[in-house]
Amino acid sequence: MSCLFCKIIAREIPAAIIAEDAHCLAFRDINPQAPTHVLVIPKEHVPSLNQMTDPALGGRVLAFARDVAKQEGIAERGYRVVLNTNAEAGQTVFHLHAHLLGGREQGWPPG
Ligand code: 5GP
Ligand code: ZN
Repeated sequence: MSCLFCKIIAREIPAAIIAEDAHCLAFRDINPQAPTHVLVIPKEHVPSLNQMTDPALGGRVLAFARDVAKQEGIAERGYRVVLNTNAEAGQTVFHLHAHLLGGREQGWPPG
């Protein structure tokens, strides 16, 4: 298995895991872009949103990100959930992941 995030799911490489259920895992981004920067991933390997065939998987990732936002204490202040898809959007790890960003004011539009 060559996928970095699958290795994190399998505990083959360490990560700061903060939440987990049967379908999803949440861990802190190694290079945080905000005071709270958590990656929420499905346990099933899907390379990007383009290959996501089961919409329920996306719903579970989104609901899990919402729950982690509550857990991190940023739900009321506000937070952003971002899915970078392919090169122009800056996707570098090809295991679908949602960035949960919060804890600071965020500009719009994103860069
Ligand atoms: P992307 O650019 O694909 O949307 O996001 C990939 C994210 O994964 C980046 O924000 C990057 O900092 C993070 N990342 C890359 N390698 C690791 C790692 O080994 N551990 C953790 N926790 N995050 C990683
Ligand atoms: Zn994977």
